[in-house]
Amino acid sequence: MEVAAVEGLMQDYELSLQHVLWRVERLHQNKEVVTKRDEGIHRTTYGEMVPRINRLAGALKRIGVKPGDRVATLAWNNNRHLELYYAIPCMGAVLHTLNLRLFPQHLEFIINDAADKVLFVDQTLLPLLKPLLGKIPTIETIVLMAEPGAPPPEGMPQMLDYESLLAAESDSYPWPKLSERMAAAMCYTSGTTGNPKGVVYSHRSQFIHTMGVLQLDNLGLGSNDVLLPVVPMFHANSWGLPYAAGMAGSKVVFLGRFSADAKSIVELAEQEDATYLAGVPTIWIGLAGYLKETGKRLPKVRTVVCGGSAVPQALMETMDSLGLHILHAWGMTETSPLGSVARVPADTKPEDELRLRLTQGRVTPGVEIRITDPTSGEELPWDGVAFGEIQVRGPWIARGYHNGYDPDKLTEDGWFRTGDVAKISPEGYIQIVDRTKDVIKSGGEWISSVELENAVMAHPKILEAAVIGLPHARWDERPVVYAVARPEFKGQVGEDEIKEFLKGKVAKWWVPDEVRFIDEVPKTSVGKFDKKVLRANAVPIKEGVKEEARK
Ligand code: ADP
Repeated sequence: MEVAAVEGLMQDYELSLQHVLWRVERLHQNKEVVTKRDEGIHRTTYGEMVPRINRLAGALKRIGVKPGDRVATLAWNNNRHLELYYAIPCMGAVLHTLNLRLFPQHLEFIINDAADKVLFVDQTLLPLLKPLLGKIPTIETIVLMAEPGAPPPEGMPQMLDYESLLAAESDSYPWPKLSERMAAAMCYTSGTTGNPKGVVYSHRSQFIHTMGVLQLDNLGLGSNDVLLPVVPMFHANSWGLPYAAGMAGSKVVFLGRFSADAKSIVELAEQEDATYLAGVPTIWIGLAGYLKETGKRLPKVRTVVCGGSAVPQALMETMDSLGLHILHAWGMTETSPLGSVARVPADTKPEDELRLRLTQGRVTPGVEIRITDPTSGEELPWDGVAFGEIQVRGPWIARGYHNGYDPDKLTEDGWFRTGDVAKISPEGYIQIVDRTKDVIKSGGEWISSVELENAVMAHPKILEAAVIGLPHARWDERPVVYAVARPEFKGQVGEDEIKEFLKGKVAKWWVPDEVRFIDEVPKTSVGKFDKKVLRANAVPIKEGVKEEARK
């Protein structure tokens, strides 16, 4: 018998960021938004911010911003950037957060690729903008975000002033009716393994992602939290945290331009009673060092979200010993970015806890995941052994890039190819082995650069280690470690000691051919190990002398 389709009787409510703004206005007026600025702490509330967001939307309209226009921001984490996060998408335009750590030629490419129409720039970032002038023809208007009384910038074209623009508008704005499929924001991948590509989030995807971030078993941000996002607002939408904070009503604390400085993070977190921090592993490596050195602690912090790169075991343990609980999360710009979170069920045996927290965790509700064989494309079992490329699908996963780059990123059956290689345990814990572009192919077998890095970073004298594969006549590629000694052990740790340390901890043939000591691992614009730079500058392996390692 055929079943007649019957429609549900629920409203077709468009999911949009206007709803988040509505909550900010109606429910969270007293919640503070605090920004560290050069001249001291700037304090405001959501209640004071809402009229400014309305004024900003009015100003955008007045300068000719139409629905769908891209409006770029070149800004630190601060209250004005948060105002832009709301006003631009809620008035129908597209917020395009520019990564201020990119080289000028990348910024130029991105602005032109997105065809940005208006650009908002923090005064301290004008030197970054200067070399781009004359090369970004789609930009019709530049708006300067400066402090009152700041001297006018020299040698720059005509710019509008943020505060004067706002002052000329009304406290209320007739927000237009938006369709949930409209673009709300765009963010370029940071280009760790290739050229930056534009990811375009819709209102719907942002709304659902925000709900996802808030779930207790996900990032679990709540109204009682004081959020201090160290992750920049230009990195994958600051991991969805600004909107999650608005939805939940969390107090937000911004570092301004003191973005990666451990002392500033600790002082601001202490002063503002931060409970919730988020950032990439290198930030926490620096912070842990500072805490140890000064003896300071942050007892009010309940969660330190750590993503963007795998969390080294040594870091997790050090942070635990300092009373800081790392919550390991995985994702990418193309996944909005929340993909998985390593929450450990309460009935986990204590001896398994650390191991599970070090995985990339379980896929977040709303997203489906599979791993596939790189050659056959066949789906692989979740047995904790087989590894293949992670593919995902769901309402906040990209289906393509702006301007149609890389159409093959989507499989024929609609899954997004992440380029990450992982195994998944029967319980669903994801263990990222590597990125497809970083995995080392030695004698027909794979060596996980991530696992080897973590093994080296477990050495007490090592602060950071990045591993790359270098060409080898016999084995195709062999691993080479670039290691940074802890400051107190500089010059006191050698290659042989590291190789000896690795024996028994990794397969014999994983022991690297060389360990090269450097002062600092080069970092990408978002603070990840920049293996492209290491590879470009690497001297070849001294072949012939290290054959023992493979036997
Ligand atoms: P880019 O690709 O330019 O680095 P993203 O910030 O979008 O920019 O990076 C996403 C990638 O970062 C993922 O595909 C993955 O390789 C890596 N990544 C993110 N989180 C983790 C994690 N917890 N463990 C290991 N790798 C991670």
